[in-house]
Amino acid sequence: MTTGYSPCAVCGGNDWLELPLPHITRSVRSDGAVLIEPMRKAQCSDCGLVQATVLSDAAELKTLYTRDYDIYNSRPSSEQFVSGRYTALAQAIASSIAPFKPQRVLEVGCGNGSALKAVLHLWPNASCIGVEPVTSAVKAAQAQGAPVVQGMIGGTLPSEASGQKYDVIYSIHVIEHTDDPVAFLRAIKELLAPQGRLIVTCPNARVPNLEIVRSDHRFSMTPYHLTALAQKAGFLPLRSTLCPGGGEDLDYEYNQLLVCSLPGKSGEVPKPPLPGYLQEANRLQLFGARRRYFHDFATLDGTLQTRLHGHKRLVCFGTGGWACILAGYAPKTWERVEACAIDGGSNQTFFEKPIVAYDDLRQMGPDAVIVGVNPATQPMIAQRLEEAGYHAVRWDDLITM
Ligand SMILES: [Zn+2]
Repeated sequence: MTTGYSPCAVCGGNDWLELPLPHITRSVRSDGAVLIEPMRKAQCSDCGLVQATVLSDAAELKTLYTRDYDIYNSRPSSEQFVSGRYTALAQAIASSIAPFKPQRVLEVGCGNGSALKAVLHLWPNASCIGVEPVTSAVKAAQAQGAPVVQGMIGGTLPSEASGQKYDVIYSIHVIEHTDDPVAFLRAIKELLAPQGRLIVTCPNARVPNLEIVRSDHRFSMTPYHLTALAQKAGFLPLRSTLCPGGGEDLDYEYNQLLVCSLPGKSGEVPKPPLPGYLQEANRLQLFGARRRYFHDFATLDGTLQTRLHGHKRLVCFGTGGWACILAGYAPKTWERVEACAIDGGSNQTFFEKPIVAYDDLRQMGPDAVIVGVNPATQPMIAQRLEEAGYHAVRWDDLITM
């Protein structure tokens, strides 16, 4: 691993505004893993793209995405969130190119095949295949009968996936993890049929939100940045919209979808002009908002310590992505958590804490229950806890999404 700045993936600029660390020694990956290494990111002065400045080498990334990375498969009770999310994503993908009905469909980075199964349902006559590098995800997909093969775009693809061109290639929340998004898109381009469509979804960084404090998100892109990367890779962008998100909450506002085709005969795709929201004054304003967002994470643990003063026995409600954020970015608070409570319970553990069924919580008699869910739903969960007689500790005023 090397620390340094590579040129901006979008504009090629090399002038960076460094963002503060959300924690001095820790960071959290999008699969919930807590890393004992800080996350360093910076904003391009010229175009506003946020790029990770600690560069993983290719071998390290390959290890991460073939062995370690296991989004949604390993967290307790995560399956209850997943199916609604993938149905919504499949619908967003299908409607983005309606009434086009593809014959051959490829999903790049298909995880455990959840979206692919939802897509198959919407396009029952299409022949669909998914490519995924993570071994455990491929096994989980195949066990459920999803047509998924192991491989990585840009690397060697198994013949089941590489031997043909596709009418539709889509990729859900993958591009922000790649070390070279233009190379990633160019590799996809090789597999797209002449009249085909590419659909890419990823987080939308127009407003600072959780995606930016994920250490494995190497880029935080606004719709302009995603569009510009597609153009750089030789695609013709057709439409940019909001779409359902990458977590258990659908969060349309924080996620984007881009539809592209191949360019016409001339092959030329003009560079898009910088939109108003990325003009100089707005770029600086966005940088200020991003700085504040990182600062909120940096001060979260200390503020929670004050808020929890005098409450000895602490339980966390939730084992989702936001509970991972607490475990990662509020370690002193997390150390005090005795157990996690979820509806129905689980015989798994969560960051080595036992998981108890919410109905059995009374027997534990905690002094306080910290609400480990999305800030947007914390008021609702806190009310439920208070009505049941628990002292609920919220932090939605500290992190605003
Ligand atoms: Zn730039």
